[in-house]
Amino acid sequence: MKYCKYHPTDAATWYCTHCDSRVCDTCTQESERGEDRYCCKCGATLESLGSAYTAEPFWERLSETFRYPLTVPVMTLIVVLSAISGVLFFVPIVGAVAGLISAGILTKYSFQCLEETAAGNMSPPDLSEAFSGGIVIIFKMIGLIILITAGGIGSYHYLGAGITGLLGALVVLSIPAFLINFALTDRVLVSFAPQNILRIVSAVGLPYGILIGLLLLMSSSVGLLSYMVFSGFEWASMILQSVISNFYMVVIFHLLGYVVFQYQEKLGFYARAQTGDAPVYRSEVERSRAKISVLIKEGDYEGVNRLYKKTLDRNGLDLSFNDEYFEFLTATGNKEDLPDFADDYMAYKLHKGHQAQLKRIYNQTRSVVPDFKPTSHEVRFTLAQDYASFGDYPAVIRLVNGMHQDCSDNQLLIKAYSLMHEALQALEKEEMALRCKKLLKRLEAQAV
Ligand SMILES: [Zn+2]
Ligand SMILES: [Zn+2]
Repeated sequence: MKYCKYHPTDAATWYCTHCDSRVCDTCTQESERGEDRYCCKCGATLESLGSAYTAEPFWERLSETFRYPLTVPVMTLIVVLSAISGVLFFVPIVGAVAGLISAGILTKYSFQCLEETAAGNMSPPDLSEAFSGGIVIIFKMIGLIILITAGGIGSYHYLGAGITGLLGALVVLSIPAFLINFALTDRVLVSFAPQNILRIVSAVGLPYGILIGLLLLMSSSVGLLSYMVFSGFEWASMILQSVISNFYMVVIFHLLGYVVFQYQEKLGFYARAQTGDAPVYRSEVERSRAKISVLIKEGDYEGVNRLYKKTLDRNGLDLSFNDEYFEFLTATGNKEDLPDFADDYMAYKLHKGHQAQLKRIYNQTRSVVPDFKPTSHEVRFTLAQDYASFGDYPAVIRLVNGMHQDCSDNQLLIKAYSLMHEALQALEKEEMALRCKKLLKRLEAQAV
């Protein structure tokens, strides 16, 4: 299992050959509607790791596995094939041909399910694929069974019962690996070659035992179930047995396909689960956020600052993104960009009705730029009011002082200087309070 370089608990899904790093979906960049992903750090196109590290293990999704064939088309196929071969079973020759054809169709379809699942498609494929080439597969299988039987007889003759029994057990244990190989290569002898069987077994490791157990359980339950339900009605029992075994066949092949999907990396390829949902596209802000989080972890603060500016140019109204940039500027102590940004930011906050936050923003900005003073008169007055209610008079004076020089809103000026007058009186600065009173009188005269 490999994890994201920046999220130590998230499985990696992409690989950058340039940086030699693995990242998760979040820590990538994509063009607006593009399928390709790029490295946040160096911009190189990333290689997909598919679901190699994100796939749920096959033994934890057994209920999904058993539900796989439960769609109308697949169940119809299973029941119709079972009924045809069951009804015609006792008719000589016709029955054998019908049985062969329906087995061929189902086998072909099951292999199709294996291949599709291995490629990441978790819903059953179209039925149209089932109706060609199935008989060929059946004959290949029959050929293989004849070959194995002949081998068994030869072994019994020359090596004795003990060794033959052992070899027989090995053959049974090889079946899942063989079916997987066959689905991927379409070649019988190559698929049965010991080194190719071993390749699958070693890729899966110990869970291969779970797989064998599941397959044995399913195949033994077919006869038992049918015996319990329909002992006595041979004809009906035949059809039911056939429905159950056909159902299990699709389940087993889906399961085998999933084993390939789960162990894709060890088997040398990458496939991604296809959910069938429409792709979710990230907005520019979301994409930038992801990249910023990577760049911060890489310590590239200049890159972060540039990206914030670039993104805000086009998404200036995104309030939370503004909040994040402000936190970044104060956290990094950026004296260059903070004053201008804080100025616009505070005006925007006030406009959005967030006046309660102005004081915190103002203080945070002043901790980096001590002589900072907002240019917006509304912001300054709102802050002054807030400070006055807490009795912080020096702050009131600092904010209102000089406002009359460049503010044309008379009513606002009157309110602001009244506050300042109160503050000066409270601080017992009589002379200044008097001058302030004069200014107020002049403003009131102009207002009339
Ligand atoms: Zn990540
Ligand atoms: Zn890179």
